Amino acid sequence: MLYRYIVNILNDKCPECAEGSVFLTRFKMKEKCDVCDAYFIEKNGDNWFFLLFIDRAFFIFPVVVMLYFGLSMAYMLIGTLFSLLVFIYATPFRLGLSLSFDYYMRFNQRSN
Ligand SMILES: [Zn+2]
Repeated sequence: MLYRYIVNILNDKCPECAEGSVFLTRFKMKEKCDVCDAYFIEKNGDNWFFLLFIDRAFFIFPVVVMLYFGLSMAYMLIGTLFSLLVFIYATPFRLGLSLSFDYYMRFNQRSN
């Protein structure tokens, strides 16, 4: 189920019906599906937890790797700038992934 949500959303498809699109622009999600009216953002800030977690992983992991290999300051700076670019570039991916988790959690809560 979670896997299907992730695949759908990363392909810009509604996790519910797999027909409507999820993203309004590269950096903005729609509030609900045009086709089946499933809400992507149910309560404002609901998927912040996952977004924060994913963001941390994105940022901290490269820094830890760089520290581990004891790179010089110049390399650290380049590495940080690079991960920032990747970070911005991967925004739809980050949003989509956190939405997938959020959607999955909501679905599970309802069925319990
Ligand atoms: Zn839909």
